[in-house]
Amino acid sequence: MPGTHAAPRLTLWGIGWLALVGCASSDTGIEGLNATLWMQRSAEYRGSAEQAYRTAGQALEEGLADPSWTAAPEQAGDPSSLPPAVILDVDETVLDNSPFQGRLIREGREFNREMWSAWVGEAAAPPVPGALAFTRAAAERGVTVFYVTNRDSDLEAATKLNLERAGFPIAERTDVLLTRGEREGWGSDKTTRRAHVASRYRVILLGGDDLNDFISVSRSSIDKRDRLESAYSDHWGRKWIVLPNPSYGSWERALYGFDSNLDSDGRRQLKAGALKTGEADQDGPFH
Ligand SMILES: [Mg+2]
Repeated sequence: MPGTHAAPRLTLWGIGWLALVGCASSDTGIEGLNATLWMQRSAEYRGSAEQAYRTAGQALEEGLADPSWTAAPEQAGDPSSLPPAVILDVDETVLDNSPFQGRLIREGREFNREMWSAWVGEAAAPPVPGALAFTRAAAERGVTVFYVTNRDSDLEAATKLNLERAGFPIAERTDVLLTRGEREGWGSDKTTRRAHVASRYRVILLGGDDLNDFISVSRSSIDKRDRLESAYSDHWGRKWIVLPNPSYGSWERALYGFDSNLDSDGRRQLKAGALKTGEADQDGPFH
């Protein structure tokens, strides 16, 4: 969620929708409407998330039974004597922020820190379907559940409260909620935090909704992202469990080259140019 843009630009249909809800803004989260409704209202989203976590449960058993098993690229040396852990992202992996997306759309706003901090401060995000059962089962199996999130460190207390209220296991004797900027060197790239966990635990499984939750892709092009996805194809559904998130993510920012100076028109133009239509030269500008 941090650093994301909600949604660019109006279509004619969007203008009609805005008129319907009485929103005067010309720059709304209208592009996010379908994505957010899918995550909030579709049985298919719930089924997808539950499917992911059921797969995670099976992977956990396989990983626990194999002392050489590790899911973290950062795991160095022989991990067999280390206690087991799993690393999960927070937003759209264990906590569902679609109500926040709903507010952006309703108010015709893009992602902004004020509304985000207010939402996080409410500590009221519901759990992603399947996440509670998986994390509780993991904790009961003696597996430490780490939450590695790009929420800023000043939001850690509210995030922890939300996780506790929702019923997620939070180990008491170690810091299992690792936020961005909490320590020096813990930037938005999660590599250093995965390495921190992997230095003391055998990482059985990674779970997230963004490629950066599994491996450092930073501001990689679409082509490089595809190559990394392929390079780790044996990890998906086995060591790496990906949750569906059509609403936002580095996949979307890659489509406009991570150019934060672009306005919503510019972003939308580049994204539209990335659409595949079956014609020649339709791969978009950032491959
Ligand atoms: Mg996430």
